[in-house]
Amino acid sequence: MHHLHPALVGTYETVLRRNAGEVEFHQAVLEVLESLHAVVEKRPEYVEASIIERICEPERQIIFRVPWVDDRGTVQINRGFRVNFNSALGPYKGGLRFHPSVYLGIIKFLGFEQTFKNALTGMPIGGGKGGSDFDPKGRSTAEIMRFCQSFMTELYRHIGEYTDVPAGDIGVGGREIGYLFGQYKRITNSYEAGVITGKGLTWGGSQARKEATGYGTVYFVEEMLKANGESFDGRRVAVSGSGNVAIYAIEKVQELGGRALTCSDSAGYVLDEDGIDLDLLKQIKEVDRGRVSDYVIARPQARFFPEGSVWDVPCEVALPCATENELRLDGAQELITNGVRYVGEGANMPTTPEAIRALREAKVAYAPGKAVNAGGVATSALEMQQNASRDSWSFEYTDQRLHQIMKGIHDSCLETAEEFGAPGDYVAGANIAGFIQVADAMLALGVV
Ligand code: NAP
Repeated sequence: MHHLHPALVGTYETVLRRNAGEVEFHQAVLEVLESLHAVVEKRPEYVEASIIERICEPERQIIFRVPWVDDRGTVQINRGFRVNFNSALGPYKGGLRFHPSVYLGIIKFLGFEQTFKNALTGMPIGGGKGGSDFDPKGRSTAEIMRFCQSFMTELYRHIGEYTDVPAGDIGVGGREIGYLFGQYKRITNSYEAGVITGKGLTWGGSQARKEATGYGTVYFVEEMLKANGESFDGRRVAVSGSGNVAIYAIEKVQELGGRALTCSDSAGYVLDEDGIDLDLLKQIKEVDRGRVSDYVIARPQARFFPEGSVWDVPCEVALPCATENELRLDGAQELITNGVRYVGEGANMPTTPEAIRALREAKVAYAPGKAVNAGGVATSALEMQQNASRDSWSFEYTDQRLHQIMKGIHDSCLETAEEFGAPGDYVAGANIAGFIQVADAMLALGVV
């Protein structure tokens, strides 16, 4: 069952037919199209120029073989992807994900979301995404390096500072960006720093990029709290995940006086009623590359649960920061029963449509990832800016820019929602504000 404007039904049916089996992509498209009712009524020119059909069709989709040799001498074959979704606003920009669940449908959902997210930042960046079904878990550093080098040996011909600028995502952090950039530099014989973001601070990276997605998520949710005259101070906060986004979301929650009580990975979750010990979590995840279950060994007062989820923990603010569709109807119902008031998505599409409906019916303030987690890509655009001017800014200045951008996105979501007859609706606000930016540029650029 969908709630689409009659003018969009055909478009959605085409998406289903052309992208058979790509359920995450269908889900992401439907969520945006369902927000466009009032836009179709107010701006018929978009429908006349088939802008919505065009936006749903990626400009280019690249799939390639990634052969590499593991530590035992066995030849391994993975599949690599890069989807150039939309370049109306700037070069394609979006991360690379290395996870065994990756297939074209995941990359397309992420690229589609990225297009609107990047538009919301107000920065000159189009939307793209890529990755591989490579599973980094249990692989040695040498294997990771060989895989990254092989991946880049194909990818390099498709990317460039003015064409397509990848970054990290699940399974791709600073270490992987280093190996990817190293191979790009070697093949092209040029130090084109602006070709990839998330670089290390001594080789072209930006201050605050590592922290940006998590910090930005919390800055956004802080604005949601402020809109109701509230703050993070003393609030119980449940965070899922224990990667790049989750760690720095927890850090900022703690700085703002909130009580971040949980973290998780695919094997279970940790509850620490004293608040997550961030130094310990960073040591486990960033240095030892271990699992969250290691946390309770060092901190016996905390508990590890292999079953259930962080959504079982009573909290006022919930920040899903792990992966898509991790907050389902049962989790949402548990959160509602326990009095949750705010849900802000640090991850991309972590909440299922049924869970979103339940949260909204219960009057929980809910804001979608394409707005809430846009601070990562916004700071990547700041990294590109620094690379282009061969400059590097201080942490404080970069963080301040990030903070301003997040406040700007929050306000533009609320203003747009108001303008299009859905006051307080962050989903409508984010989808419409992002869409209009991209659509207006596409109209101006003609049928290309
Ligand atoms: P990451 O550093 O690789 O961490 C991912 C975390 O999520 C890990 O704790 C991982 O646990 C957990 N996870 C992954 N798949 C899971 C699953 N199927 N079930 C349960 N837990 C799972 O990745 P990240 O960069 O933090 O990304 C997290 C989310 O934020 C993703 O949705 C990503 O698209 C989004 N995002 C990231 C950025 C960025 O700048 N990095 C920007 C915007 C949005 P395991 O170790 O057990 O897999």
